[in-house]
Amino acid sequence: MKHWKIEIDSDGIALITFDMADRRINTLDAETLEEFAALVARIKADAAIRGVVLASAKAGTFCAGGDFTHLETFAGPPEAGTEAESLARDVARLTEAQALFRTLETCGKPVACAIEGTALGGGAELVTACHYRVASDGPEAKIGLIEASLGLLPAGGGTQRLPRIVGIRAALPLLLESKIIGAAEALKIGLVHALVPLGETVEAARNWVREHGDPVQPWDKKGYAVPGGGPYVQANSEAIAVAAALSRQRYHGNYPAQGHILTAVYEGTQLPFDAGLRIEMREFIKAARSPQARAILRTKVVSPREIRNGANRPLGIPVRRFHKAVVIGAGLMGSGIAHAQAAAGIETVLIDVTQEAADKGKAHVRAALEKAIARGRSSPDAADAILARITATTDYDRIADADIVIEAVFEDRAVKAEVTRRAEAKLAPGAVLASNTSTLPITGLAAASARPESFIGLHFFSPVERMELVEIIRGERTNDATLAAAFDYVAAIRKTPIVVKDSRGFYTSRTISMYLEEPCEMLAEGIAPAIVENIGQMTGMPVGPLSLPDAIGLELPYHVLQQTRRDLGDAYVPSAADAILHKLVVEHGRHGRRNGKGFFDYAEDGKTKSLWPGLADIAKPTLTDAFDDRVKTDLKNRILYRMALEAAKCLEEGVLADPREADVGATLGFSFPLWTGGPLSLIDQVGVAAFVAQCDRLADLYGERFRPGRKLREMAASGERFY
Ligand code: NAD
Repeated sequence: MKHWKIEIDSDGIALITFDMADRRINTLDAETLEEFAALVARIKADAAIRGVVLASAKAGTFCAGGDFTHLETFAGPPEAGTEAESLARDVARLTEAQALFRTLETCGKPVACAIEGTALGGGAELVTACHYRVASDGPEAKIGLIEASLGLLPAGGGTQRLPRIVGIRAALPLLLESKIIGAAEALKIGLVHALVPLGETVEAARNWVREHGDPVQPWDKKGYAVPGGGPYVQANSEAIAVAAALSRQRYHGNYPAQGHILTAVYEGTQLPFDAGLRIEMREFIKAARSPQARAILRTKVVSPREIRNGANRPLGIPVRRFHKAVVIGAGLMGSGIAHAQAAAGIETVLIDVTQEAADKGKAHVRAALEKAIARGRSSPDAADAILARITATTDYDRIADADIVIEAVFEDRAVKAEVTRRAEAKLAPGAVLASNTSTLPITGLAAASARPESFIGLHFFSPVERMELVEIIRGERTNDATLAAAFDYVAAIRKTPIVVKDSRGFYTSRTISMYLEEPCEMLAEGIAPAIVENIGQMTGMPVGPLSLPDAIGLELPYHVLQQTRRDLGDAYVPSAADAILHKLVVEHGRHGRRNGKGFFDYAEDGKTKSLWPGLADIAKPTLTDAFDDRVKTDLKNRILYRMALEAAKCLEEGVLADPREADVGATLGFSFPLWTGGPLSLIDQVGVAAFVAQCDRLADLYGERFRPGRKLREMAASGERFY
């Protein structure tokens, strides 16, 4: 076998080790599943096998779940044939998948699993199909049924086994919120049976098989009852009502999978196990065929993979490897970039004007790592290895043998020009110089460069160690080799790149700015601030539109608007945001969370906040009360559509070339609601012609800013879609 190893010991215990060939992690795809099915058949048939221990050969992963290429085929457009044929095909495939785990747990032999890494999605379903689960007691062992985060639900029996193991009350939040839990919590709720030190799980599992090995799942025993009772037990019916309410509060009804999960658990746990599996399958198919699931899978999984595989990388240029990278400017961004590089195994030099400032940057990385260790996301050994790769210094000579230098100094043309000249004096031929500017045009910055063809923009997002997106900005004179190298660098640090034209606000800043502009228009119209804030969150944006600028600092958007006004001159169209921000920042000295005053007033404890009553003098609220669904839908759409229109405009203007980049950029860069699949997927979901018609209506009611551009009209007329 290519991906699994089987060794049978003298007691007849088969150790089956999952070790997917040519991959860093184990996943369940057509091939690994086919081999596993053969193994399960053998376990069942081979009299020499008395019991089984399942383990993984990959450090840190047990099994990361269903391979997405596999999942995609459920959510993708139906294959050739009628709807009924495509449905029959899905049912057949799902039945087979469910039957595999069912055969494992009913094979008549005890099966234990030894978990020393993450078991997610299908991997978590696999462990719940074992009779005994032992995990290592460190931060590495984790279990999560995370299908909901893809707009789906487990389809390998997960919605049925989990509540039958831990009870309905404990199972619901795990399923609905895609929670990943550590070994200690898994033990507490009864999801694993025992914890032992790392490296000892296989032996512990073997001991269980040898000494206790019970080959029957609790739910296959006579007299079995779901722990804590079925859905009609009062505590459970309350828990279900609470879970439904919390889901509504958290997801605002934007994710249909939430309802399907609740149904699968509610109905399934009242029935015998195999009938429960059929309920699960029915609900899975409904969820997988929703436009939301299709859009989520595309934008969260398929498009980033295609982009990372080089969909937009210039052709024919060999892949560059990055051994050493220098970051200049050890502030917030520089230290984050250093962290990401070092975590990816790249030797990193962090330069600042003083040794103290450089050391402070490295200390920032240390603090972030300590936090990660405390949360079980890293280990002391891994953290030490990362820190050992970072040298904090003031010495520009260290640049000499670097493959790339990234400048993250103050956002000031003169400072950046000086750093460019000093760095280039040491830079090896062929090495790349990148700027992490958030607003300054790259072509302008490259004017200070003696080799502008090797100069490029790499716009990272804060906090760098966690944000996956990087905007690559190509200057007028940047050559293809440099662009390709930037792609390779972003891939090397395991992030996802989009390529944008050197233009105002690039892509993400320009599109997210609509999330402030439109809410300000609403305030100016007299819609109460609380309504504006809540509607923003109901779209699925993680932070309300008034809280977000407060968190960033109100001067930032204010200065950007001022700069844009200066740059555009007569062509500038002022919006309500100009006047409102001017009043807040200039007249009232309200700079946001940092000085405790913004759209909100912040209490000294930094936690409690309330809307600033003075807003009423800036824009008098006239709509303050409950309002009908039509108004609510209009408000929600206005916020989403402004961003979608801007993204479409970016595509029309060539700021981006590829709809996938627009959607991946928006969801990764500023958390554009995932249920939409991104701003352009949203337009596709609505239908381009319907979207154009709705925007025309909004334009008639609220202003020309909603009037769709040429590209959208052409697409509407010809029936074209973004995907
Ligand atoms: P920061 O003020 O936290 O850090 C800047 C660092 O650069 C300081 O440590 C400073 O000592 C150092 N520095 C200044 N002049 C230098 C010089 N001549 N040589 C070496 N080091 C020098 O700033 P930041 O927030 O990290 O931003 C840095 C850059 O990243 C800016 O261009 C900014 O626009 C951009 N950016 C910021 C964000 C963000 O969210 N803060 C996001 C994307 C991009």
